[in-house]
Amino acid sequence: KRVADRYLKREVLGEGTYGVVFKAVDTKTGQIVAIKKIRLGAQKEGINFTALREIKLLKELKDPNIIELIDAFPHKGNLHLVFEFMESDLEAVIRDRNIVLSPADIKSFLQMTLRGLVFCHRKWVLHRDMKPNNLLIAADGQLKLADFGLARIFGSPDRRFTHQVFARWYRAPELLFGAKQYGPGVDVWAAGCIFAELLLRRPFLQGVSDIDQLGKIFAALGTPTPAQWPDMFVPPPPLRSLFPNTSDDALDLLSKMLAYDPKTRISAHQALDHRYFTSVPAPTKPALLPRPA
Ligand code: ADP
Repeated sequence: KRVADRYLKREVLGEGTYGVVFKAVDTKTGQIVAIKKIRLGAQKEGINFTALREIKLLKELKDPNIIELIDAFPHKGNLHLVFEFMESDLEAVIRDRNIVLSPADIKSFLQMTLRGLVFCHRKWVLHRDMKPNNLLIAADGQLKLADFGLARIFGSPDRRFTHQVFARWYRAPELLFGAKQYGPGVDVWAAGCIFAELLLRRPFLQGVSDIDQLGKIFAALGTPTPAQWPDMFVPPPPLRSLFPNTSDDALDLLSKMLAYDPKTRISAHQALDHRYFTSVPAPTKPALLPRPA
């Protein structure tokens, strides 16, 4: 079946936050693509112009560590977003018990994640929904951030579909506190949680509700302001005790990515300049990274 005269529809890849994702062949280029069908349900007039303008901006975001938005068009009342097809994602890598992740592999995955963030943050685009299954892995081993900017265009997806609860584990404290103003620090926090997850091979802070999420953060990192609320003060356990086999450089970077105050939290750009990335071992070349069978 053809979509918009150009794409030959193949199998469904999965149900995502915004709708069904299916595989297709772009008959114009022969490229295998993934098409995200976004329900436009409530908006009777079709796609609003703000969304279209924002999507046009996303089409301009081209970087080796950002998944390319190849095309976007309305079809039968749904908005279709066409992306390059990706083989795997970081969640599959972390979960695969047959995969051993060396310190160099972890460094490489984090470096590619931060490079994607730096590129988008430079253009003032936030991701806002970073999690391991949004970090897709191409056939050549490059990690690419997916769904950039969609959270802002289509609204925060978290409460709309139940499977989205996992996004909570990567949510920065300022978001959990309901901040209306926030910045690129929310993506750095999430990248810090993903860094920790690569080290631990399980999600770092698994809250079952937003309040519980804050509790999990405080239990791991201590409460933020002992001066204002002495009775609630929980001295932070040394991060070292939670990550016994991790290098000092890695832990230093992790603690800076998980700084409470978004103003003092390290930026993606500064994080890439951290000595962790220049100390041994060197990050694994993407083509040599382990991948799920
Ligand atoms: P979520 O909203 O839960 O992050 P997505 O909408 O991103 O889910 O994706 C739904 C499914 O489609 C997932 O199984 C994902 O692996 C797959 N998928 C999404 N984008 C691509 C892509 N570019 N290439 C291959 N598979 C993809």
